[in-house]
Amino acid sequence: MTSQKTTTHIDTTVVHAGAQCDPTSGAVTPPIYQTSTFRQQAPGIHQGWDYSRAGNPTRDLFEQALAALEQAKFAMAFSSGLAAEQAIIQTLNPGDQVLVCDDVYGGTGRLFRRLFAKYNIDFKFIDMTNLALVTQSVSPQTKMFWIETPTNPMMKIIDIAEIATIAQKAGSVLVVDNTFATPIFQNPLSLGASIVIHSTTKYIGGHSDLVGGAVMVNDQKLADDIRFIQFAAGSVPSPFESFLLHRSIKTLAVRMAKHDSNAREVADFLSKHPKIEKVFYPGLPEHPGHAVAVKQMRGFSGMLSCVLKGDYLETLKFLKQLKVFTLAESLGGVESLVNHPEKMTHASVPEALRKELGISSNLVRLSVGIENPNDIIGDLSDALEG
Ligand SMILES: *Cc1c(COP(=O)(O)O)cnc(C)c1O
Repeated sequence: MTSQKTTTHIDTTVVHAGAQCDPTSGAVTPPIYQTSTFRQQAPGIHQGWDYSRAGNPTRDLFEQALAALEQAKFAMAFSSGLAAEQAIIQTLNPGDQVLVCDDVYGGTGRLFRRLFAKYNIDFKFIDMTNLALVTQSVSPQTKMFWIETPTNPMMKIIDIAEIATIAQKAGSVLVVDNTFATPIFQNPLSLGASIVIHSTTKYIGGHSDLVGGAVMVNDQKLADDIRFIQFAAGSVPSPFESFLLHRSIKTLAVRMAKHDSNAREVADFLSKHPKIEKVFYPGLPEHPGHAVAVKQMRGFSGMLSCVLKGDYLETLKFLKQLKVFTLAESLGGVESLVNHPEKMTHASVPEALRKELGISSNLVRLSVGIENPNDIIGDLSDALEG
């Protein structure tokens, strides 16, 4: 779906994008077109939709909103973040190489290492905060750069504009996983990236009640290729999930403002706490990526990680004592979640790499929710004292 470029502010855009009144009834909220197929007046003659894998009016409106979020010309919705990633990789050919930042989401690493490597696509995992190393690693086979920033779970910050310049020189495509920052705080396409991918399961969905993914691009050829894969392979969201996600987008700006302000308070509290060894949060001035974060982000979002003083058993005790935070995979919902990357989200990362990255047994990752900050901090404080 193509979106109109607007000059309005993002908090207005999220409310209005793709939200047109239903022309037949005047309903302010368009109906959910819960249908698989559409009547044709004559073979091949129809009103724009023929089968819901190819397109559905509810999904179209959701995709319009997704495009508007990233100020992109095109957006394609998928049934999960990993389905969206799969579609992007399927634009490549055997023999191509992808340079991937070393600290990617565990499932992304698994998709690349265990599924796609056997199709003779070479995934090279490197530290992309090191720009000299990135330049050195480019080869004639390099067709794609793949980054996350902030990274998961170490919250490293990668300079999107610098990597985009290297990718352009190499004649290759830069993909940015913008799940953590969200379009409210960071727009990779405007910094030179070619493709943005989201796990809409996280902040865009925002309520921990569905799984989804999205791809945004400006280039017509990339859009055509990814649209074809979406249609031909079929990992699409249902009309109902498209509706729920579109509904969530309307509150994205207010939710993110609260996630951001709560996380700043939590980072400040933890960084001063005697039982905390280290806090990884790009909003802290001592974070090595703070300057780049300030340059390319408008907020720091609600994610942070920290290392506890003590071993795994003490970390476990802390996790068990939390009451406001729920111990669970995933992130970006309205409720605060805590995760133990080594044993949970990043268990599939090879052990040597886990060690090298700093994913240790006393590292915890927090997804700071939108509850009252005093309750969130009180919960952390009680669990640390306990
Ligand atoms: C969760 C996540 C994914 C994968 O998305 P799913 O919706 O779980 O398939 C990809 N990237 C990041 C950064 C994530 O947090």
